[in-house]
Amino acid sequence: MHFHGTSRINEKGHLEIGGCDTTDLVRRWGTPLYVMDENLIRRRMRQFMEAFEATDLSFQVAYASKAFSTLAMCRLVEEEGLFLDVVSEGELYTALAADFPAERIYFHGNNKTPSEVARGLDAGIRLFVADNFTELHLLEALARERGLRVPILLRTTPGVEAHTHDYIQTGQEDSKFGFDLGSGQVQEAVRQCMESDILHLEGFHCHIGSQIFEVEGFRLAVAKMAELVRHCREQFGFHTEILNLGGGFGIRYSEGDEPLEPVRYVEAIAQAISQAFSEEERPEIWLEPGRSIVGEAGTTLYEVGTIKEIPGVRKYVAVDGGMNDNLRPALYQATYEAILANKADCEPEETVSIAGKLCETGDMLIWDAYLPAVESGDVLAVGCTGAYNYSMANNYNRMPRPAVVFVADGRSELVVMRETLDDLISQDVIPERLKRKTIPASS
Ligand SMILES: *Cc1c(COP(=O)(O)O)cnc(C)c1O
Repeated sequence: MHFHGTSRINEKGHLEIGGCDTTDLVRRWGTPLYVMDENLIRRRMRQFMEAFEATDLSFQVAYASKAFSTLAMCRLVEEEGLFLDVVSEGELYTALAADFPAERIYFHGNNKTPSEVARGLDAGIRLFVADNFTELHLLEALARERGLRVPILLRTTPGVEAHTHDYIQTGQEDSKFGFDLGSGQVQEAVRQCMESDILHLEGFHCHIGSQIFEVEGFRLAVAKMAELVRHCREQFGFHTEILNLGGGFGIRYSEGDEPLEPVRYVEAIAQAISQAFSEEERPEIWLEPGRSIVGEAGTTLYEVGTIKEIPGVRKYVAVDGGMNDNLRPALYQATYEAILANKADCEPEETVSIAGKLCETGDMLIWDAYLPAVESGDVLAVGCTGAYNYSMANNYNRMPRPAVVFVADGRSELVVMRETLDDLISQDVIPERLKRKTIPASS
């Protein structure tokens, strides 16, 4: 397992994060436990901000809150001066409840409900990223009712799809998101905005993929978007003020992954921008990283329970969590690495597979982990679980969601309480007719 941020092995031979011995964290907060390295989260945000500050671009960096959205996380984002991208009323509500300033929030999503649009308008968020024609009409109608003009970006699908190590160009992108560039849908949307006294179009958005390890896809996206910007100026006299190039910057889940530093992506984008635009037509550049801000900062701690060896086949080591707290391996074969936190200085000597405790054969966290001799009661630490783990957590098998703690400088602080059994039934209702009858005492 790669040691990210402040993770290290301490004098006792235990995994330490943020100056906290993970075996102490387990004793204090229980397992499974999401541990977030606060200083690493802050460092990643600063790396994006500082990389832009070193260019001559106007910019905003937004944290894509879907990767990990909690009140305390919103506070970190606010303190570091980033914008926040939300994709639902729940994420918006979380941000506002954390006193995140509305003028630094913008709203994404391919099916914003009337209630979501209304809440965003009433809160006075910075803008909406409009995804389709239905939504343009909805935004216009609800803003008109309120006597408002609504600032928007148009989400486009530029026909560039980036994958981890390469990218593909697709003529017509088959995606549920955004206005298609190739077929002229974007141009039609621009025309509708130009004719509207309510829709205030400020620019365009695209997001080319996730867990991207190279810069070529971003360069290509800039070139495509520059073409669109030029076209809209010539055809409609429209001046693009903002170009949002999305997120998707890769992180190191496994030793084989070789992500670039945030500064490399920003430099490549800045270079592509200065090539594609003259100084006076250069838009403000927005990015919206999610995974690369929080992913490497997260570690999940589990307690090892049962161990089952099938001679000559495989040794299964089961932990007290699984696909309810980390859905990604089951959802898309995501790979993770782990160590034994209480034996972090011991030599690995056996290959085992880490199973969850949920009732699905597919509930496997890691196939073939190379670990020191594993015993029941050991603490297993799975690295790189900060993004799309807590945010995808669920209650399958009526498993309570784990607690989340921030660690930094030897301190650990609870930021999400562990769900209780009462929490699990708190929304359940028994209709009167199904309630257990008290049997009248026989006389
Ligand atoms: C998911 C998403 C992001 C963040 O992606 P990461 O891979 O976590 O950086 C940014 N923008 C949009 C539109 C997204 O859907």
